[in-house]
Amino acid sequence: MAGDSENLTAGRELAVLLPLALEGPYTYRCPDHLDAGPGDYVQVPLGPRQIIGVVWGEGTGDVASEKLRPITEKLDAAPMSAVQRRFVDWVADYTLSSPGTVLRMTLRVPAALGPVRQKSGVRRSGDPPARMTPQRQRVLDTLQDEFVWPIKDLAQEAGVTTGVVRGLVDSGTLAIAPLPAFDMFQEPQLLVRDKELSEVQREAADALRDYVQPGRFSVCLLDGVTGSGKTEVYLEAISQALAAGGQALVMLPEIALTAQFIERIEQRFGARPAEWHSGLRPGERERVWRGISDGTARIVVGARSALFLPFQDLAIIVVDEEHDPAFKQEDGVHYHARDMAVVRASLGGLPVVLSSATPALESLYNVEKGRYSTVRLEVRHGIAVLPEISCVDMRTSGPERGKWLSPTLHEAVAKTLADGQQALLFLNRRGYAPLTLCRTCGYRLNCPNCDTWLVEHRFRRQLLCHHCGHQTDIPKTCPACDNANTLVACGPGVERLAEEVEADFPDARIAILSSDIMRGITLKEMLKAITDGEFDIVIGTQLVAKGHNFPGLTLVGVVDADIGLASGDPRAAERTYQLLRQVAGRAGRGDKPGRAMLQTYQPENALMEALVSGDREEFYSYERQARETFDLPPYGRLAGVVVAANDNSESLGYARLMARAVPSAQGVRVLGPAPAPIAQLRGRHRIRFLVKSVRDFNIQGFLRAWLGAVAPPKGSVRVTVDIDPQSFL
Ligand code: ADP
Ligand code: ZN
Repeated sequence: MAGDSENLTAGRELAVLLPLALEGPYTYRCPDHLDAGPGDYVQVPLGPRQIIGVVWGEGTGDVASEKLRPITEKLDAAPMSAVQRRFVDWVADYTLSSPGTVLRMTLRVPAALGPVRQKSGVRRSGDPPARMTPQRQRVLDTLQDEFVWPIKDLAQEAGVTTGVVRGLVDSGTLAIAPLPAFDMFQEPQLLVRDKELSEVQREAADALRDYVQPGRFSVCLLDGVTGSGKTEVYLEAISQALAAGGQALVMLPEIALTAQFIERIEQRFGARPAEWHSGLRPGERERVWRGISDGTARIVVGARSALFLPFQDLAIIVVDEEHDPAFKQEDGVHYHARDMAVVRASLGGLPVVLSSATPALESLYNVEKGRYSTVRLEVRHGIAVLPEISCVDMRTSGPERGKWLSPTLHEAVAKTLADGQQALLFLNRRGYAPLTLCRTCGYRLNCPNCDTWLVEHRFRRQLLCHHCGHQTDIPKTCPACDNANTLVACGPGVERLAEEVEADFPDARIAILSSDIMRGITLKEMLKAITDGEFDIVIGTQLVAKGHNFPGLTLVGVVDADIGLASGDPRAAERTYQLLRQVAGRAGRGDKPGRAMLQTYQPENALMEALVSGDREEFYSYERQARETFDLPPYGRLAGVVVAANDNSESLGYARLMARAVPSAQGVRVLGPAPAPIAQLRGRHRIRFLVKSVRDFNIQGFLRAWLGAVAPPKGSVRVTVDIDPQSFL
């Protein structure tokens, strides 16, 4: 028996981090024959289970060694690099998460840690069978080369059943042979270039390449107007990193953007990049994970979670549309992928490029302080010019009752269509109407789980909660007063806007782009059809705001430019400015000049004025001043703390305990407790604190001291900490 010869306390003690919400690593004994060391993926017992963890270092020696359980197995995968382990610890420390929770983000593809599951196929090996049939002949005709074919593919190609192929294996004519488990990644071609850079682009590319030397940490903000060729320019920096032998990661805020982008990379480098986001099939996830780990996947295009992939030799990170709020993860570990990309690069000693036409105030601040370098591109490529932006004053020139397009915008659309060009009407609201209320009693249709209105979706004939997904049929009578036919839709969503546009422009071909109504047709196909000029009017939510190139589009109408301004978010103005600038930037990217019209009730707002004048600095300096005055980011720090429970008195009770335990410290203030703006969300009652400090304050240390001073929450109470919050709901 093995136990007889094995000394139960022999072997080194190792700390193993497990992908669970624990304080830190657990100590295990490493049997001598396993020879595991830091970074190795191992399987260990935990209670009755076996789970996969990562060796984090030597054991701490604080558990009696006879109590230690042995590591079960060391997995085949290449060890997690020291840089990545430090990154996990860093992210955990910064976001106040447990390191195991962060580790879990790196262990999303357990299949990739084991041996490659060998697949097999068949190839020609012996003489033709004694008994030949027409089916068998077709198989042999198909199999004329030396290749190994998967049995199913071969049968399909030859038009026979797989039984016929197996029969040929039995007769010795074919033999089973191993198939490569995954398609290989192609090697990027660096010497050919699909486009010649313009003079200004070349200068920008030279400057950028200088700033982002391989093997050295640096951050460069590539700040250029929409359509200036930022992508072309940063592809040069990527080319430089690839030439040095490393891997490149490009992070995009939306999966919807990746399809177009992947084609572009393919054209530039003659190789299809690896793609990483939540929509991948398991087999593809494994292929990508392995390719990144063994270094054969040289270019990776991914969503924020791509930061946690096991790069063998990461040489550059590009964060495209770096200002985009979608880079912030708002559940589990609350992290900002742009900021963590900078951290990852600094730990790994590599450069980062942040690219945007409307950089985050934080990034501009870092340029100003000399922490980041910057390269600017101020003109559009080729003969394209930036669109002219104007406001439509809704107080004096608004639409008639029940309509959403002002006469001015209506006329502009008509003219655009008459000229054979495309118009985009932008409204950042899905569905038909954001609110349904009873004309008789004033009752508003609410979500039962959330403190929000239900949004009518007329295509689906349903009322939907955009927060928890609750859906219900549209009632025939008012749930409060029971009157029939008294429910009315208030305000517009894209579906309602489409109704008006269809009535007003009956001959126009209209496309609605909204994440919930792409019926049967994929976004990719839709975008292509728009690019090809198959639609005259595009009605869209923020899905269309970003990145796309529609050469025939010359008019952008923003139906409600004020939508984002009313929220209590300190970045509301910045967000609105970025979004509107971005949307307006869709116009006039081809050879005809474009224009954008903003329907607004506050044309004298500094933000609208800056959009119209095109003077970005005017807006940013105004905004900077406001932030500085109120110690808001980037001049101060924020952290959100939300206490949530199934029952209001539970969350209130715990929030009161917390309020009494706030440590006293200089340079920090705790606001609250107060009901969160969405006080009920998915059935949970939420109370919010906002921690506000000066910039050079250890906000994490303060929060740890605070949370440590209160008894841990009981029952259904949970406390969520959000460092640098982007959302204030
Ligand atoms: P940005 O990222 O700044 O919005 P892009 O890099 O997407 O700009 O360029 C805008 C459009 O102009 C794209 O369709 C791109 O292919 C084209 N373009 C940019 N630079 C060149 C160039 N040097 N030669 C040909 N086309 C270019
Ligand atoms: Zn809801």
